Amino acid sequence: MIYLDFAASTPLLPSVKKELFRAFEEEYSNPSSAHKLGRSSAEKIENVREKIADSIGSYKSEIIFTSGASESNNLAIKGYVLANQKKGKHIITSSIEHKCILSICTFLEKEHGYEVSYISPKNDGVIDAEDVIKAIRPDTVLISIMHVNNELGTIQPIEKIGKVCFEKDIKFHVDAAQSYKKIAIDVDELNIDFLSISSHKIYGPKGIGALYIRDLRETKIQAVIHGAGQEYGLRGGTLATPLILGFGTAVQDQTIENSFEKVSKINSLVRLRVSEIGGALNTPTENHIPHILNIRLPKFDASLFVGNSDFLCSQGSACSSITIEMSHVLMEIGLSTTDALSSLRLSLDHQVSPNIIDKLLINLSK
Ligand SMILES: *Cc1c(COP(=O)(O)O)cnc(C)c1O
Repeated sequence: MIYLDFAASTPLLPSVKKELFRAFEEEYSNPSSAHKLGRSSAEKIENVREKIADSIGSYKSEIIFTSGASESNNLAIKGYVLANQKKGKHIITSSIEHKCILSICTFLEKEHGYEVSYISPKNDGVIDAEDVIKAIRPDTVLISIMHVNNELGTIQPIEKIGKVCFEKDIKFHVDAAQSYKKIAIDVDELNIDFLSISSHKIYGPKGIGALYIRDLRETKIQAVIHGAGQEYGLRGGTLATPLILGFGTAVQDQTIENSFEKVSKINSLVRLRVSEIGGALNTPTENHIPHILNIRLPKFDASLFVGNSDFLCSQGSACSSITIEMSHVLMEIGLSTTDALSSLRLSLDHQVSPNIIDKLLINLSK
C-alpha cells in the first residue's frame, strides 16, 4: 500500500516514536504532583510549551494544550464568544472551513442565537479578503478563517484579514492545522488572536494539539472542559505527558520545513501527469501549498477508487468521506456533482517519489 493521505494524518517520525516510548515508560507520574518526578515531567512539558510559543512568535503563557485542532477550535470560538456575549453575536467565517468549524457555528446559531456570515471563496478556492471585510458589522465579535484549506491546499489571505481585525478590534481565529510548519506563522505579524494546531498533522501522535490565545490572562474565555485548574482553568484534566513530549519532538523536527522544495517538485510532476491523461486540477496554480493537490478525472468513480485502491487517498476530507456526502468545499468552488464525485484529494510529503507518482497515474488511467 502507498500512502498519499498526509493531510488526513501523518505517520510518526522515528524520533517522535522513540520519545513517546520513553515517556510512556518513564514519565508516568502526574505532572501536577509536587514531588521530584512530577516536577521533572512538568518542566519537560513547559519546554514543549516554550518550543510551540517560539515557533509562532508568542509567549509560552499563551499556549494551551488540547486534544487536537478540533478541540482548539471549540475552545477558541465557543470559549471566546460565549464569554463575551455582550460584545455582539455576529461571527464571520468561510463556507470552506473544516467541518468542525462549521458545526461549532451551527451550534452557536441554533443554541445561542448567534448570526454567522459564511464567506464563499472565488472559483480558485481562495477567499477574497474584501468579501470578509464587507461582511463586518458593528456586532461582529469574531472572524474565523482557516490558513490552508484541507481539501484544496489553498492559502487564505490571513495577513489582510488580520490587519482589519486589529483595526476594528475584532478577535481573529485561524485554524492552522494544515499550514503549521509548512508556512511560517508569526501571530503578531499576522494579527492572529487564536491559532489552532494539531500534532498528528506534523508527524506527532494523535490526541494532542494546542491553542494559542493572545493575552490569555486578560482575555475572558469560557472553559470547554471544567476541571481541577489545569491549563489556566480553561482545560481541565491531567496533562498527557507522553503525548505532549512526542508533540514537542515533532515541533522541533525540521523535516517538513526542509522538504518544501522536494514536495513542490512532486506536486509539479503530478500536475503534469494528470493533464497528460486528460484530467484537470481543482487546486489552482497559485496560492497553494505543494502538499495537497485535488484532481479530477473524466469518467472516474473516486469513491470506488478510494475504497479499493492500494493507493491510499481521500475524496474530499477524511472525516466526511466515510459518510460519502458531497464535499462542501468542491461544491463551493462551483463543481458539478459529477465533477465532485470524480475528484480525488492527493496529499504528499517528502517520502513520495516520482516513481510512486508514475505508478499512481498508470492506476488512475486504467
Ligand atoms: C485535521 C484538521 C482538523 C482536525 O484536527 P484534529 O487534531 O484531528 O482534531 C481541523 N482543521 C483542519 C483544517 C484540519 O486539517
